[in-house]
Amino acid sequence: MKKYIKYLAIAAFAVFAASCQEKPLDPESQILDSKVEQTDFDKWLVKNYVEPYNIDFKYRMEYNESDMNYYLVPAEYEKSIQIAKLLLHLCINSYDEVTGSKDFIRENFPKMVHLVGSAAYKNNGTMVLGTAEGGLKMTLYYINSLQLDPSFLNYYYFKTMHHEFAHILHQTKPYPSDFEMISGTDYVADTWNDVYKSDSAAQAAGFVSPYASKEANEDFVEIIAIYITNDATTWNKMLTNAGDGGDVIQSKFDIVYNYMMNSWGIDLDELRSVILRRESEISTLDLTDITL
Ligand SMILES: [Zn+2]
Repeated sequence: MKKYIKYLAIAAFAVFAASCQEKPLDPESQILDSKVEQTDFDKWLVKNYVEPYNIDFKYRMEYNESDMNYYLVPAEYEKSIQIAKLLLHLCINSYDEVTGSKDFIRENFPKMVHLVGSAAYKNNGTMVLGTAEGGLKMTLYYINSLQLDPSFLNYYYFKTMHHEFAHILHQTKPYPSDFEMISGTDYVADTWNDVYKSDSAAQAAGFVSPYASKEANEDFVEIIAIYITNDATTWNKMLTNAGDGGDVIQSKFDIVYNYMMNSWGIDLDELRSVILRRESEISTLDLTDITL
């Protein structure tokens, strides 16, 4: 235990020292200490996350919530406000709108969202964009690099968010076993390096993305995440370009679509159009206003 605390202290110091070198310290401390003062943003979070959804939105980096295998820095205050408002508008409220109530999110969404300012880089040079642990906590990285462009937002945050959330859904209600039979032995299991080096190579082999080729659960959630963050034209073009792989993706998609409809009452086409409409509204949002 003592050793563990020491590691925490060293890691905390390393991050603190590094952030000091790069820029002057943010007047709002992003590192939680025992007597942290309530900011306006904390009050806004209580009103918009805790009260309606019982979600604890942690924007101050907490070392006991962080992965010590990576060198990480805290999320900036302003960026944290932006992502909190975007997560609400583009993700949470989309599900509210489609299901007609806040219950779906309240019952199924992770109870904790944890922000990290930097990316987490793996040994092989790839970036971890997000993680979800046991359906209870979702960590979003790379917050300090946030840009308000829909394709950037989808790539770095929202595709990941829908991916992780879809894991919770299939862990709660399993999908039909027919799904994993379709690509069966084509899954390439736990290799460190992706077998498919590009989206198009994976798609020609019947997977929506290289990551989807890992195993059936990843395949399942990638189909959902990619479907709802792309318009119909993009999706259909992908199916056509994939040739025979497109037919494989389509048969898996049919199972995914029916599962979401029958198990959760969610029409993925409706969800997609709501998400895309909300994306087009980004420029009209005030992402700094946290008045209550
Ligand atoms: Zn996954």
